[in-house]
Amino acid sequence: MNKGAREAKATLLLTGHNLDDETQSLLMNQFKGNMQLSAKLGPISGAVSHEKFVKKVKPLYYMTEKEVALYAFLKKFPVQFVECPNSPGTFRQQVGELLNNLENSYPGTKQGILKSFLTILPDLKKQYENQTIANCELCGEPAAQKQCKVCILLEKEKK
Ligand SMILES: [Zn+2]
Repeated sequence: MNKGAREAKATLLLTGHNLDDETQSLLMNQFKGNMQLSAKLGPISGAVSHEKFVKKVKPLYYMTEKEVALYAFLKKFPVQFVECPNSPGTFRQQVGELLNNLENSYPGTKQGILKSFLTILPDLKKQYENQTIANCELCGEPAAQKQCKVCILLEKEKK
């Protein structure tokens, strides 16, 4: 996404992440004990600045997946409402189901998680702002590890 945005000379990248995506990511990071990953979340992504990063903003941040889908349906946007084929049985799907069950029993749960997170996010970003970002040894894009996630996925696909 950074590479494409830079090539298009974009200074801002808008993504479709919503309340469901964000609360799933938050809980997954929490369950894995990885708050460093959560520091990258929020309505404006990223904890670290890097010359190759294009600022990412999530305009649908406070909307549920259902609200986004309903709006797209009512506006007759050409959207396919199908589940990701890689989703069944994943940790994200299980966390999503857990959150949906809690939301059904205790309406407002997801908003509550988000509200709590946003109160600690500035401190979280401060804590991890000095981490170093390397360049992926394969594509040269910023990466937290030796290889970026895209290259890791592409290598997996080749096998
Ligand atoms: Zn790469």
